[in-house]
Amino acid sequence: MRIPLPKLRELVEAVRAVVKGPFTTKFPKAVDSVHPNFRGILKFREENCLCCGACVQVCPTNAREIVIDRAKGVKRNIHYAERCIYCSQCVLHCPNDAIYHTPEFDLSRTERGGWETSLEKQLVYCELCGEPFATREHLLWIAHRVGDLVNSNPTLFLTLYQSLGVAAPQEAPAGALPYRSGTLRILCPDCRRKTYMTEEWGY
Ligand code: SF4
Ligand code: SF4
Repeated sequence: MRIPLPKLRELVEAVRAVVKGPFTTKFPKAVDSVHPNFRGILKFREENCLCCGACVQVCPTNAREIVIDRAKGVKRNIHYAERCIYCSQCVLHCPNDAIYHTPEFDLSRTERGGWETSLEKQLVYCELCGEPFATREHLLWIAHRVGDLVNSNPTLFLTLYQSLGVAAPQEAPAGALPYRSGTLRILCPDCRRKTYMTEEWGY
């Protein structure tokens, strides 16, 4: 009798399994190691995050969100793992190495909730219009990167001075219009533009 080739291969594999042991692993009792570049469950390096929102911009599945919480005075960076496809775009485009893949791959769950991870960073408010426009960490990160050029931008050098304890925050004056005399304040981009443009061009 002639044995068909696929059956013969099955027979060979069965004999090999008896001698060498099964091909399958004992997951979840025993977990195999993964390749060093494996894109597993994502985590934050919380101390590095600036809440800049770059990861939100590049995420193709809306698995990331930045929320402004005025009551708490923070920006919240949220990762919804159930929407994540592990494409790694957020890791690639994060400017401060604040996201990384772990080697963890076991995503099986019985419950629907509990997939979010998040972190919070302190908001900075415009000292003219009073609107939040960045986080303290983000402004300090830029201030350190631009070096001596920090002295050309009052928002950056005042944030830096405040972090060093040599400048105090200023209250946004009620009803004040952006004008050249208000440039030495921490200002949002819109008020910064207006303070410079008003005197020369009007608006
Ligand atoms: S620093 Fe990185 S993780 Fe934080 S918001 Fe920006 S891109 Fe996202
Ligand atoms: S790995 Fe891809 S899908 Fe997941 S959060 Fe990052 S950018 Fe979004």
